[in-house]
Amino acid sequence: MRSTAFSRPISVAIPSVAIVGAGAIGLSIAWRLASAGCRVQVFDRGLAGRGATHAAGGMLAACVETEPGEESLLPLTRASQALWPVFAAELEDASGQSVDLRREGTMVIAQTADDAAKVRFLHDLQAGLGLPVEWLSGAEVRRREPYLQPGVAGALYCAEDHQVDNRKLATALHAAALRAGVEVHENAPVTRIEGQGGQVVGLWVGDRLVEADRIVLAAGAWSAGIEGLPPPARPPVRPVKGQMVCLRMDSRLPLLRHVVWTPGTYLIPRLDGRLLIGATTEERGFDDRLTAGGQFALLEGAWRALPGIAELPIEEAWAGFRPGSRDDAPILGPTEVEGLVLATGHHRNGILLTPVTADSIARLILTGESDPVIRPFALDRFQPKGVVA
Ligand SMILES: Cc1cc2nc3c(=O)[nH]c(=O)nc-3n(C[C@H](O)[C@H](O)[C@H](O)COP(=O)(O)OP(=O)(O)OC[C@H]3O[C@@H](n4cnc5c(N)ncnc54)[C@H](O)[C@@H]3O)c2cc1C
Repeated sequence: MRSTAFSRPISVAIPSVAIVGAGAIGLSIAWRLASAGCRVQVFDRGLAGRGATHAAGGMLAACVETEPGEESLLPLTRASQALWPVFAAELEDASGQSVDLRREGTMVIAQTADDAAKVRFLHDLQAGLGLPVEWLSGAEVRRREPYLQPGVAGALYCAEDHQVDNRKLATALHAAALRAGVEVHENAPVTRIEGQGGQVVGLWVGDRLVEADRIVLAAGAWSAGIEGLPPPARPPVRPVKGQMVCLRMDSRLPLLRHVVWTPGTYLIPRLDGRLLIGATTEERGFDDRLTAGGQFALLEGAWRALPGIAELPIEEAWAGFRPGSRDDAPILGPTEVEGLVLATGHHRNGILLTPVTADSIARLILTGESDPVIRPFALDRFQPKGVVA
């Protein structure tokens, strides 16, 4: 196993840590902490890795997703994007499993002259922010992706926006965490976080109180619903539903190699021949039913860009819940309850943000210090600022 900043024993007292939620966020923090010598227990109300982490697309799209008003997220998303190659290699070493990190890059295609104006605007914004994006002519797009519809007018291309297979990521994180000594408790819902005198004591799983020095709340879209948190420590997180559909390509002759965004959908080709099409964005609470309208919009948008999908079999369709916060940015760091740390609200970027979250939250727990890159994302940004009389 490679040596990492987290695999060295530390000299200060080593805290025991209980983590609520075994998604990409909870498992990666657990893996980092256990590698540093902490006793770590993770609790999930279902099976590990079956929440939003299972439902995601796995795009590591720090650049092409940047829209006006989202510039403040860039230092965090770009930092995590830069960590991904080493993180993936370490994880593959530690787990013995591949996570299928693909590096072909991402295209945002323009299908008409109207689209081209919008995509050019996005290109100019992102290039102006110093992001590594370039403009491809229609002919160049078709040279790289010959099965796209012939009229494609051009594309914004980013060579650094990769993808990972998020389901393989979850399995690898679970295996690496177990190998590092993490106790992963599945089908073990946490009903309450227990505190005393402004400090955490532990958490309740059924009628059992599990004591811990630190608790990390990483329960994704469900993070606001756990009892025992005083209102100022409760993260304002809600479920943002996303439907997806998956088709089966011939993996020896795939219709697509890059991640491709169209005006309404995105297409993500996997190495094993799956072609994911996503995703809707819906405010429907925890209603996980698929809808005809949602599935139709995905398939129609994908078909307009890549007509050959009409022949492909449908393999699977699902809905998941992004953990959306009030400003769509994650909530990372300490709370006013001593020992309670938040790692939630990652919205549509939780897979991208896994490495930076794991490293920074583990460091916070081990050293008490917040990395500058996560400081702007603390819970206190939502608290009303003092009114000057
Ligand atoms: C359709 C869709 C597409 C997406 N595409 C991308 C993408 O391309 N790139 C990207 O970076 N991100 C993407 N995301 C976002 C990403 O999936 C999430 O931000 C990320 O998975 C959040 O990880 P998590 O570990 O916080 O949450 P989750 O994976 O949801 O894990 C939380 C866990 O907490 C558990 N839990 C809940 N309540 C309790 C309790 N009381 N006790 C114990 N356990 C509990 C749940 O069972 C769950 O396993 C997408 C999301 C969706 C829905």
